[in-house]
Amino acid sequence: MLGYRYSEKKEVEIYEPEAMWIRKIYAMYISNYSVSQIYDFLEKNKVKTTTGNDKWNNSCIRLILKNEKYVGDCLMQKSYIEDFKTHRLVTNKGEKQKYLIQNGHPAIVDRETWDKAQQILVERREHYKMPLGTSPNFRMPSPTAYAGFVYCPYCKSYYRIRTQRYNGQPTKKVLVCASNVQSKLCKNDNIFVDVLNDSIMKELSILKDNIQPLKKAMLEAFSDNGGIDRENLIEALEAKIKALREKLKKLNDMHTEYGYELSKEIESKITNLTKDKMRIQSELLVTESAEARASNIIRKLKDINANPESIDDVDFKSVFSRVIVKNKAEILFVIGNPEVVRSVVKDKGTFGSKVDYRVRKTTYSMHFGLIINR
Ligand SMILES: [Zn+2]
Repeated sequence: MLGYRYSEKKEVEIYEPEAMWIRKIYAMYISNYSVSQIYDFLEKNKVKTTTGNDKWNNSCIRLILKNEKYVGDCLMQKSYIEDFKTHRLVTNKGEKQKYLIQNGHPAIVDRETWDKAQQILVERREHYKMPLGTSPNFRMPSPTAYAGFVYCPYCKSYYRIRTQRYNGQPTKKVLVCASNVQSKLCKNDNIFVDVLNDSIMKELSILKDNIQPLKKAMLEAFSDNGGIDRENLIEALEAKIKALREKLKKLNDMHTEYGYELSKEIESKITNLTKDKMRIQSELLVTESAEARASNIIRKLKDINANPESIDDVDFKSVFSRVIVKNKAEILFVIGNPEVVRSVVKDKGTFGSKVDYRVRKTTYSMHFGLIINR
């Protein structure tokens, strides 16, 4: 177990090179870092997991945060042998009494920190309970759930839901690039519906955990040549017009022939600048300000159903304008203009993470990130 080792006398003792990371995980979590941010931190610092490989995932971090052993306690009978013939170990969901042995071994985190972490875990679970698409309670989406949403950048068409068959039996719902429905014409991969659902829920949850940075990123993207630039332009034009008017006033006060010619010239300059100003002002009226657009998306994000029974209950299209499938291992969510002009195939996006899934005995990962367009 990460953070502990058995001593030569077979006693549990703290293994400091790992325990320091356990303390860091707890410290970050109670300082309001999201599990995804902790995940990024651990990956960045190349921290090893219990199994020795360096692949972390969010549920692995949650298990560490939930584990009472780190505060020196030990909950007995977390699982039990179902029956003595099968010797099957099953999770105790309350069928049998559990016993808590307190302070039975050295603690890595203090009780105050641990209690605080448990409190935050409960609060966040209530706010962001995002069941996985694979859970039996999560209904399959309607056939039109992703209509005009899942996009193939290679052949510029949308994905369609199909039921994959194996030995004539329907197995899993998959999304297939429209060019590949009849025969394989596009190089892009199919993706599993439940994996996409998990990615959508996870990305929404990450964004909910990062409202402020998300808003900042949206304002930057939306303001690019947008509302704020126009306002600056209008201000600059007004300053120019004002300066020209003053010049004109001085010239008129002089009452000279030369001044008359020049003032005609200045008057026509003022007329042109005023026309420019009016055109930009009317553009500004029809363009929603960056602030309004960003706030609107944040509001939709906060309104997302926290306990959906199906992806149909999740208004993800009010936050994302499109999802771009790069391949079966990587997708990108888009906020803002769905017409992606630059080449997205190399883009990793921001606010990213991944979901792991299994097909038969192999584990695969779907990486995802976000791009924000004007
Ligand atoms: Zn395609």
